[in-house]
Amino acid sequence: MSNKQNIVTIDGPAGVGKSTVSRKVAAATGFTYLDTGAMYRGVGLYLQEEKIDLGDRERLIAHLETLKLELFPGKTEDDDVGVLLNGRDVSSIIRTAEMAMVASEVSAIPAVRDILTKMQRNYGEKGKIVAEGRDTGTVVFPDAAYKFFLDAKPEERARRRVDQLRIKGEVAEYEDILAMTIERDKNDRERNIAPLKQASDAVGIDTTEIDVTEVVKQILGLVIK
Ligand code: C5P
Repeated sequence: MSNKQNIVTIDGPAGVGKSTVSRKVAAATGFTYLDTGAMYRGVGLYLQEEKIDLGDRERLIAHLETLKLELFPGKTEDDDVGVLLNGRDVSSIIRTAEMAMVASEVSAIPAVRDILTKMQRNYGEKGKIVAEGRDTGTVVFPDAAYKFFLDAKPEERARRRVDQLRIKGEVAEYEDILAMTIERDKNDRERNIAPLKQASDAVGIDTTEIDVTEVVKQILGLVIK
């Protein structure tokens, strides 16, 4: 591991199973789980509610600098990370398909990425984290010792998302979710800053045909605690 940080990064497109896999890897290693997508969702909700003009850079930065964004662990290993926005619990509001699109839009703004990347690096300062997102292996933690990139066919990812949303009681139509998944991937892959892509030193895992247990097993087989 030498000069590398004792960090596991798990990146990949929407609905590929990153969160479930990351939570299980964190539980098995005793590392802290860092859900960077939850941070983009939180900032997206905040900017939307405050009706901030996304083109007004100065005002945007002033708002982001005063924003207090905190993450807290889910009750069980199967629960999503929670988010507090200036002390208000927005954990469930940020998990809708609509908020995912808003997060994708604000995530292309350099000022948003700067602030969140700094916060993420602070979380990772002492190592022992499992960071999950789009750019954790390429930009946030380029020196992480263990990098993974999960991928799967869009149809399979959309099917999984529909199942997840329905479990949470949301109305989710497969065709709508597939269209949103494809659009979000396109935004995330084609943006100029920190686009979604596999780090050159990341291990790629195609999860289309394999289940969560197998993916976790493959990752744990490579991570030295
Ligand atoms: O992972 P999740 O679906 O919660 O992420 C929501 C959105 O936040 C993504 O579609 C992406 O646009 C953005 N994001 C990002 N960089 C990250 C994590 C999430 O741009 N590291």
